[in-house]
Amino acid sequence: MIELTAEEKVRFRRQIMIFGEEGQRKLKEASAFVTRVGGLGGPVAVYLALAGIGKLVVAHGGVVEPSNLNRQLLMSYEAIGRPRINCIVERLKALNPFMELVAYGDDIAMDEALTKEVVSQVDISIACPPTFEERFNLNKASVELGKPLVEVAMYGMEGYITFIKPGQTPCLACLFPSPPKWSIPFPVLGSVSAMMGCIAATEVVKFITGIGSTLDGYMLYIDTKSWEMKKTKVKRKPDCPVCGKIGKDVGQ
Ligand SMILES: [Zn+2]
Repeated sequence: MIELTAEEKVRFRRQIMIFGEEGQRKLKEASAFVTRVGGLGGPVAVYLALAGIGKLVVAHGGVVEPSNLNRQLLMSYEAIGRPRINCIVERLKALNPFMELVAYGDDIAMDEALTKEVVSQVDISIACPPTFEERFNLNKASVELGKPLVEVAMYGMEGYITFIKPGQTPCLACLFPSPPKWSIPFPVLGSVSAMMGCIAATEVVKFITGIGSTLDGYMLYIDTKSWEMKKTKVKRKPDCPVCGKIGKDVGQ
C-alpha cells in the first residue's frame, strides 16, 4: 500500500483523526469520476480534492456564463466567456496540486461508449449532470462494469441521493424505468446544490475509507424549505432492463 508523506500526515491530520492513516492511504490510492462539475458536481470535486483522493476525473463542457455564477463555485466572474473546464482545473489544482487530475472539456456522459471507457478507469463515479440522458449512460456503464455509482440530484430547494452498487441495490433504471418529464433550465439555489454535493462527497469518502454505512438501497430526500428529511428503502425491479439479470437482491 502507498505510504503517506510527512506532509500528508500533517495536511490530513484532522480527518486522520476520523479514519486513521489507513483510511487516508485508501483515499490516496482511490480514483473517482465526477460529471458534470457545476453547482452540484463542483462541491463533490472540491471536497474529494481536499480530502486527498489520489486521482480525479472531471468532465464539463461549455464556457462560463453569467447565469452559472449563482451556484458554480469553481467558476468566477472574471472567467465569463472562458471554457469552464479551465476554471475547474485551475481551482482544483490550487486546492490539491498532488492529485492526479484528468479533465475533459466536454459533457462526455452524453457519449455512451466514452462514458463506459472512463467509468472503467475509476473506482467510483458520481452522477451530477442536469440531464437524464447522461445519468442513464452513467448508470448503464456502472452496472455493466460492476462499479459503484453515487446518484445525486437536486431541484429548487430539494435534494435526492442514493448509492448504487450494481447487483446489490436498485440502479437508476429500477427507480426510473423511463426518463421523467424534465426540462432545462430548472430552479437551483446554490447553497442547496452545494449541500447535496457535500453529502455525495461524504458518501464517497465513507465508501473508500470504509467508515459508516453508505445509502445502499436507500433514497435520502431532503426538503430544505421545511427540513423534512426522509430515508426511504428503494427496491430493485426484477425485470429492470439494465440490472435485472445481475447479482443478488438485498433491496427487498
Ligand atoms: Zn436496475
